[in-house]
Amino acid sequence: MKNKNIIICSACLLGINCRYDGKNNLNKKVLDLTKKAILIPVCPEQFGGLPTPREPAEQKGNKVFTKSGKDVTKYFLKGAKEVLKIVKFFGIKEAILKQKSPSCGYGKIYDGTFSGKLIEGNGITTKLLKKKKIKIFSEEDL
Ligand code: SF4
Repeated sequence: MKNKNIIICSACLLGINCRYDGKNNLNKKVLDLTKKAILIPVCPEQFGGLPTPREPAEQKGNKVFTKSGKDVTKYFLKGAKEVLKIVKFFGIKEAILKQKSPSCGYGKIYDGTFSGKLIEGNGITTKLLKKKKIKIFSEEDL
């Protein structure tokens, strides 16, 4: 069997209902990639121990808060570390991550005011993977 490239992927982009509201962000271009590569779906927020559905959260500085003001940073950090374990296990070099998420966002994230305003920045998992030299793409880059 010919080896396929293995890529880590935000699970919601593949149609997994792991989003904060119990829905997904199925993306046709990401789904099409499964014909050429093995995409491993991960949801760092679920890996971190948060329930689905869950209260929406946004980054503020280096922390993450829910809309009602609860500090959920530790769950986001735990989820990022769990994703990294999978990356190391398979020797993965690339990731496709969901734009704007406080976990998976790449290049732009919400500003922490829950007003829909975007700022430059990366999600908590994205930051960790970047630090480990994983090449990141968002679904918008495909
Ligand atoms: S944490 Fe990532 S994978 Fe999970 S729902 Fe949010 S964007 Fe999707």
